Amino acid sequence: TSDLVDLLSDRLGNTSLSEADIKPVRANAVIVMLVRNSEVNDAAGAIKQLEDRFNAKYNYPWVFLNDEPFDENFIQRTSQLVSGNISFGVIPHDHWVQPDWIDENRARDGRNRLMAQNVIYGGSISYRNMCRFNSGFFYRHELLQPYRYYWRVEPGVKYFCDMNYDPFLMMQEQKKVYSFTISLYEWQQTIPTLWSTVKEFIKEFPQYLAENNAMDYLSNDGGNTFNLCHFWSNFEIADMDFWRGEAYSAFFDYLEKKGGFYYERWGDAPVHSIAAALFANKDQIHFFRDIGYRHDPFQRCPQGDYHSQGKCWCDPTDNFDYRPNSCVQRFEDVQAGRI
Ligand code: GDP
Ligand code: MN
Repeated sequence: TSDLVDLLSDRLGNTSLSEADIKPVRANAVIVMLVRNSEVNDAAGAIKQLEDRFNAKYNYPWVFLNDEPFDENFIQRTSQLVSGNISFGVIPHDHWVQPDWIDENRARDGRNRLMAQNVIYGGSISYRNMCRFNSGFFYRHELLQPYRYYWRVEPGVKYFCDMNYDPFLMMQEQKKVYSFTISLYEWQQTIPTLWSTVKEFIKEFPQYLAENNAMDYLSNDGGNTFNLCHFWSNFEIADMDFWRGEAYSAFFDYLEKKGGFYYERWGDAPVHSIAAALFANKDQIHFFRDIGYRHDPFQRCPQGDYHSQGKCWCDPTDNFDYRPNSCVQRFEDVQAGRI
């Protein structure tokens, strides 16, 4: 590169040109994975795929977060796979555990109720910690402070297609704040009072509703009830400045005070989705039709030209997009103004 810099400097008669001036433009972005040491094999698989399909060309940094310190094995196994910088962070205690002011008797009742209903993770406290952390804390972690955009990756996920452009730059250039690959219905039993809380919040802070919001993606009756549509947050490429901003900060604080992360089992997926749909304009949410992605038990596989251009290895007939339990059609109808 330094030869090239000299050459360019010569040609331009500009001796102050530095290497940074001719580096390809990158976004201020990071790839982030919350993960346990015990998940190292599944983490390695996901890292390898995202590197091969995308990041080997772009070298974005990776940040790994954990509620306990990463062990030597995890650090070694993952470090050898990445093309960019890598760092490992421990989550501050208060960002992870159930706060003291939560009424534990009430929380236990909530867990028992969901367990009795056989709701997945119904009795798990650590799952609730994880959902609350992903909802309101990950973007405050010191290792993520330098960055604006992030790509959330989970252990065990699959990426089926080559990325031939930088999705972070696309997000930035098109002023997108949130993106998804799979959209589906939430389990009502995990969020009995979430929507009434959202309605209270809107009433108190109407100024945060975006003018051109996607309320109709979330509700079939103009906001009275929640239709349970949300974006599956195990895949996210999004703008942390949106989470750090005034509207979402007020929203998260409001939800937090209700205690629903512990009394019920509010997921980060409906929380993020509701916020993106209400506090951003609908054209700021992006559906990645060209990304092939699997998180068990669902996958989406790009169709037609997207499938060939991305050299996708998924079966195009195994695609969640327009299945009966998908909300993609509704999202597209709302974004296009058909609903
Ligand atoms: P699911 O996708 O809803 O079934 O939930 P997961 O079990 O995949 O958890 C979501 C993400 O949080 C994954 O990236 C997990 O590795 C991570 N995760 C869940 N629980 C914990 C935990 O107790 N500690 C840590 N460090 N990560 C967790
Ligand atoms: Mn998962």
